[in-house]
Formats: sequence, structure tokens, C-alpha cells
Amino acid sequence: MVQIKKCLCDIKFETEINSLSKLEAIKNYFNEQKENGIYIEEQAKTPYYVYEDVNEHKEYFASKWYICTICGCLWEIEFPDFPAKGFVRKYKDGLYTGKTVVNANETPKKPIKIIHSQNCDNKYYMFSNEIFIHGKNNKVIGLPIERGSICFCDMYYNSDILYVVVNKNKGYVTYILNERDLVMQKI
Ligand SMILES: [Zn+2]
Repeated sequence: MVQIKKCLCDIKFETEINSLSKLEAIKNYFNEQKENGIYIEEQAKTPYYVYEDVNEHKEYFASKWYICTICGCLWEIEFPDFPAKGFVRKYKDGLYTGKTVVNANETPKKPIKIIHSQNCDNKYYMFSNEIFIHGKNNKVIGLPIERGSICFCDMYYNSDILYVVVNKNKGYVTYILNERDLVMQKI
């Protein structure tokens, strides 16, 4: 009997890696697929994040890439360096489209606002659909997944607290950006 190998790419999803147990589970899954000959491990060929300004050009590559030999899916994994979270991203057709370029001098996509943190070395670049955080750990925060979120529209400090304003269907909603964990909390 011929055994047909199947992959699980269709039922696996992109996710944040926000705990050690999740990291372990993800490592186990990818290792297992690799041992079964379903995924091939590769070095990341394209950086997921590029930062440029007058003085520097920095490229950040994910920890690992896996290519599925069955469906061609490309999986990108960045291990967490807590408190910075990691991620698992999926490119269904195998074409890498995850690269984000932040050019602090001249940006094709112009940020709505750039803020230097008052509490640490971070710089925040707010775009309509995401906030790039450039600092010790680079990160991208997307629009809240809650219903009706349309775009980011402002961010500002008030008494050392960084507020982020999101335009929603029914008006504006303000969040606090927790600069330690780099997550947004609704207020
Ligand atoms: Zn697959």
C-alpha cells in the first residue's frame, strides 16, 4: 500500500509566541514535521524587518524558515526574547511577503507620527494600520482585532503614559501602550 503523506498547513495558523509552553509546542510541531520529511528547514533568506537611517542599515532575520514539501507553504518563525514576543507567520504560496522596511529618513509609506519614548530607547512609527517599534527589540503592533477598528490616528504622552488613539466605526477609542510588554490595553 502506498502511503500518501499529508501536511497540516491548512489547519495551522499564524500566531504570536507569548509563552515558553507555546514556544515548546511550536518547536515540537516543526521538529516532528521535519523528522517526518514533510517540512524542510532553511535559513531565513529575507529579513522580516529592515531599519535604515543616515547612520545605519539593520536587517533582522527570523530564527527559522520551514518549507512544506507537500503544499509549498513557507513558515517563518521568530523565537521570542521575552518580554519581546516571537511569532509564527505563514506564506501559503511559498512567496515571502513579510518584509517591513522602515526608513527613518525617507519613507515611501510615510508615518502619521514618530515618537521617541520618554521611558526607554524605543522609537514608535505610527502608520494607519500598524505601529513599528524600533528599539532593543523590534516589533510591529497591528490594529486591534476588535470589531470596527479602521485606522490608527494619534499617539501622545501624558504623564509618562503613552496613549494610542484608534478610529473605529463608532468614534475614537483610546488605548495605553504598555512599553514594557509592548502591548496595547484598552482604557
Ligand atoms: Zn503543507
